[in-house]
Amino acid sequence: MSEGNEKKERDNAKGINGIWTLLKEYGAEVVELLFPGEACLICGRVVAAGCLCKSCADKRDNFGWGRPCDCCGVFIRPEHSLCRWCQLEPPVYIENAKAVAVYQGYLRDQLLAFKYEGQKSLAKGFGVLLTDLVKREFAHINFDYVSSVPVTEKTFAKRGYNQSLLLAQAVSGGIGVPWTDHFLRKRADVSSQTTLGREGRIANMRDAILPLDVDLTGKRILLVDDIFTTGATAYACGKALKQMGAAGVWVITVAAGVDFS
Ligand SMILES: [Zn+2]
Ligand SMILES: [Zn+2]
Repeated sequence: MSEGNEKKERDNAKGINGIWTLLKEYGAEVVELLFPGEACLICGRVVAAGCLCKSCADKRDNFGWGRPCDCCGVFIRPEHSLCRWCQLEPPVYIENAKAVAVYQGYLRDQLLAFKYEGQKSLAKGFGVLLTDLVKREFAHINFDYVSSVPVTEKTFAKRGYNQSLLLAQAVSGGIGVPWTDHFLRKRADVSSQTTLGREGRIANMRDAILPLDVDLTGKRILLVDDIFTTGATAYACGKALKQMGAAGVWVITVAAGVDFS
């Protein structure tokens, strides 16, 4: 082999070794860079496949954003087990709530686009994340129904869809439990929550969700929604479902607020 060819071989080998070293060290990140597919739903980085980048997937189990409150799933400091509100009064109408991640940054933008800008197709990726969450957090529960949070007829007419129902349908497919939106109704005169503070939201939602004439005696319900902030909506739904006889109500959302007090 000529000197020139040997050098070329050596360089090639170095190049291949270099790629292997990179792959070994940064594996998934390199694949994500070389074969970009879609955006990670939490941070927006391009990913080769799936809905999460490697970094967010690694954080998922230990909740790199803190840890979820044992009761309501709001993200809290790692040394705490309950948020300040559950310490005062644990939720009475739901058994437990958990969220995929904190409501902030890219994920927050995606959720706003999903809810207000007609980006219905995001339900698919959120559904994957939520399905994963149910399998991790509530694997021991045999749910009878996956239910959604109702919207008023006015909201439905304006938006053209109920984002909570799209998520419930996606989760239903993921865990093989039937979905329904025939359990609850939202009172037409409930005003928007967006400008209200914590106390205002709770008061606003207190009797905002009405039970429909369905017997849910002994049934375990998985309630799916986009965001859990004060829990006012989830508690109002839980209350109505319990009035209908439900044995338990568990809640999952794509995002939750924080209590880093
Ligand atoms: Zn990410
Ligand atoms: Zn809590």
